[in-house]
Amino acid sequence: MTRVLYVYREYHVAPNQDADAEPVTHCMECVACEQASSTAEDVDGPLNWVFNHLKSYPTHLAYREHLTRPYRAEPRTYP
Ligand SMILES: [Zn+2]
Repeated sequence: MTRVLYVYREYHVAPNQDADAEPVTHCMECVACEQASSTAEDVDGPLNWVFNHLKSYPTHLAYREHLTRPYRAEPRTYP
């Protein structure tokens, strides 16, 4: 007869701020035509892409930001 033991653990999930965590990245996408900027660790490059896109397509006024933030699950510890 085989017995199985299940152990349930609780976890805490939060942004990963470890030194080796993946970076937070930003990308801007035009809602009208779905063209998108490159992905960057700061938002300045993607925002500059929006201004350049507006020069070529002055009627494209809506954009969405895609932000990628790494998270990490840590098992809860009890005293
Ligand atoms: Zn566009």
